[in-house]
Amino acid sequence: MSPEVWVAAILGASVGAIVTASVVHLRRKRAAIAATLVPHRTRQLMSVLQAGAVIIRRDRRSAFSNNAAGALGVARVDGALNGDVADLAEEAWRREEPVEAEIAVQRGVLSTPRFVHVRVVPLDEDLCLALANDNTDMRAAEQSRRDFAVNVSHELKTPIGALSLLAETIEEGADDPEMVRKFAKKMRKESRRLTKLIQEIIEISRLQGAGSVVEHEDLQLDGVVHEAVEAARLGADARQIRIVTDIKARPTVLGDRDLLVMALRNLIDNAVQYSDERSEVAVAVGARDGVASVTVVDRGIGIEPKDQERIFERFYRADPARARDTGGTGLGLSIVKHIAHQHSGSVSLWSEPGVGSTFTFKLSVHQEES
Ligand code: ADP
Repeated sequence: MSPEVWVAAILGASVGAIVTASVVHLRRKRAAIAATLVPHRTRQLMSVLQAGAVIIRRDRRSAFSNNAAGALGVARVDGALNGDVADLAEEAWRREEPVEAEIAVQRGVLSTPRFVHVRVVPLDEDLCLALANDNTDMRAAEQSRRDFAVNVSHELKTPIGALSLLAETIEEGADDPEMVRKFAKKMRKESRRLTKLIQEIIEISRLQGAGSVVEHEDLQLDGVVHEAVEAARLGADARQIRIVTDIKARPTVLGDRDLLVMALRNLIDNAVQYSDERSEVAVAVGARDGVASVTVVDRGIGIEPKDQERIFERFYRADPARARDTGGTGLGLSIVKHIAHQHSGSVSLWSEPGVGSTFTFKLSVHQEES
């Protein structure tokens, strides 16, 4: 090797060593500053907080942040701070009072933003404390409540509008008894629809409300199924549809009788509504590995794959025109889903257009009898 190369190599190695040493020194210095700025006890306290907590420095970096702040994407352990939080801190210093705001935190280009509520309190000239809480779920719940209110008023408008039109027509043709009879019949149908809609809206609001509405008692599942079948019998008879029951087991479940009857009746009513006249609907009760199940099988119109994911949503109808014709509200399956959840159970679906549908309602067995 030539002397020039030796000199260059030695120089390179020395520069590398100096740079490494300065980085290590800088890190130590930063840690030492953080330790001085944020005493050990304070850091311990911040670490146990459920909320994200960050001590912010004047240079828009964090002196210390807890794990929750990292998980929320508000601050990183290396001191990097979310820009919006740093802006809030500057505002808090400027105004010399706490400031708060909701910020959208996007972690990675593919993820959806989380909505984080941040409150920043100036501690002194050099430090601010920020507390951060995830508001995303609360926001989603609020949006869902708003959507529900909008949907309810929209859904109520249709039958109320129809009733008013029908009444007007009757008024105009009062001297034609045949016409009065025809439209009065239509009015009865619309008011039945309206009553069903209102009852279901009340039911779903109750089921969605905070806490549990379930009155737990020991129930024989086959007895509950029997009650639901009897309730659905009238509608089935009107369409000459036979309901066949198959009791393979008699499990006992813990639950609210009225709610379970309502859920199963909704499934049977649908099976009847969406089947051809003079066909058959089968309802079976079984129990296996601690899980009790009720299956409702029809050979009706079936449900398209694209609708299968959505039919449990409030007011969703696969075929709005047909559902309206059958008096459907689009709330029945949503009620079934809520009742299943209130009982720590589930409801699932298999369906093929033109072949039929099978809905399976599952609950935990409380005590099994053979
Ligand atoms: P609806 O009161 O309209 O019946 P549901 O919530 O009970 O409301 O059902 C939602 C939609 O799912 C219905 O409008 C219908 O399109 C579809 N659906 C439900 N059950 C069945 C079934 N057994 N066969 C075919 N389609 C069904």
